[in-house]
Amino acid sequence: MTASSTSHKSTVSIIGAGSVGTAIAYACLIRGSADALALYDTNAAKVRAEVLDLNHGTQFAPACRIDGSDELAVTAGSDLVVVTAGAKQKPGQSRLDLAAANVEIAQALTPALLDLSPDAVVLFVSNPVDVVTYAAIRAVGDDSAPRIFGSGTVLDSGRLRFLVAQRVGIAVENVHALVVGEHGDSEITLWSSATVGGVPALAYDGGDGPVFDADTRADIASDVVRSAYEIIAGKGATNLAIGLSTARIVEAVLRDQHRVLPVSTLQRGAHGIEGVCLSLPTLVDGRGATRVLEVPMSDAEMAGLQASARALREAQDALGL
Ligand code: NAD
Repeated sequence: MTASSTSHKSTVSIIGAGSVGTAIAYACLIRGSADALALYDTNAAKVRAEVLDLNHGTQFAPACRIDGSDELAVTAGSDLVVVTAGAKQKPGQSRLDLAAANVEIAQALTPALLDLSPDAVVLFVSNPVDVVTYAAIRAVGDDSAPRIFGSGTVLDSGRLRFLVAQRVGIAVENVHALVVGEHGDSEITLWSSATVGGVPALAYDGGDGPVFDADTRADIASDVVRSAYEIIAGKGATNLAIGLSTARIVEAVLRDQHRVLPVSTLQRGAHGIEGVCLSLPTLVDGRGATRVLEVPMSDAEMAGLQASARALREAQDALGL
C-alpha cells in the first residue's frame, strides 16, 4: 500500500548510505517527502553516523522519523525502497564497467527487500541503472515490473533542461525536454519534442535566428553526457542533483501523483522495444511506473533509441541476464 490516505504514515527505506543515499535522505528530509526514513548500509559506523547527522537537523525540517542499521530488518514495512548500494564510477570508468558487482547486489537484495516490505515499490539508482533494474526484475519475476523501476534519465533530463534554460535565459520550469534511452553514453536528447515556453525548441528564435542550430544541439547533448564525468573528476561522485531528482520520484509514488517522468522500466513494445530496461516518458503513480508514453521522434532520434536498446541488450547478454 502506498500513502494515498492522510492517516497512513509513509516510510521510505534507502539502501546504501554513501554519497548518493545520504543526498537522497537529505533531500527527502528537507522537502518533507516522507513521514519516516530508514537507512540500511553494510557499513555500520557509516550508517550510524549519517543517521545521527540527519536526526540532528530534524528540528529544522518537516517532521520525519529517521532510523538506520546494518541489519536489513530496519527496512521492514516500507512503502518505497530506494536502492543506491554498490560500487560507484571511478574517474574515467563508464557506468557499464560497474555492472557485474551491482547486478549481483540487486539480485540478492530485491527478494529480501520484498520479503520485508511485500507491498513496496522499489526504485533503483545504483549504476548502470538500466541493467541493474532489469536484473532486479528478473530476480523476482516480470510480474513485478511496474513496481520495480529505475531513476533512469530523470537526472539527465534535468541536466538538459538546465543547459537549454541557461542558453535562452528562461526559467528551467518553462523548458520541457527529454533525454531517453540508456542512463549513460548511448542516451538520446529529444530535440524534436523539446519546447521553450511552449515554442518548439527547433524554432526558438533568440532575436537573430534559431538558437538551437545543429552545432548548439550537439554541444548541449554532449555536455549532458559529459557532465557526470566532469563532476566525478572534480568531487569524486555526483550526489546532490540525483538526491533532489530522486526525492521528486519518491513523492510521485507516495502521493500517487500520476507524474510523467523519464524513468527506466522493463519495455514491453513501446517503439517496438522489449525485453530491456530503458527510459521513456512514463506515468509514475502509487503503484510504480505504470504506463509508457510513446513520444513522437525524428528518424535520427528513433535510430538512436534503437541503438541504445541494442547496447543495453548486449550488456545484459554479457552479464548472462
Ligand atoms: P558510495 O560508495 O558513496 O556509497 C555506496 C554505499 O553502498 C556504501 O556506503 C557501501 O557501504 C554501501 N553498500 C555496498 N554494498 C552494499 C550492500 N550489499 N548493502 C548495503 N549497502 C551496501 O557510492 P555513491 O556515490 O553513493 O553511489 C552509489 C550508486 O549510485 C553508484 O552505483 C553510482 O554509480 C550510482 N549513481 C546513480 C545515479 C543515477 O542517476 N542513477 C547518479 C549518481 C550515482
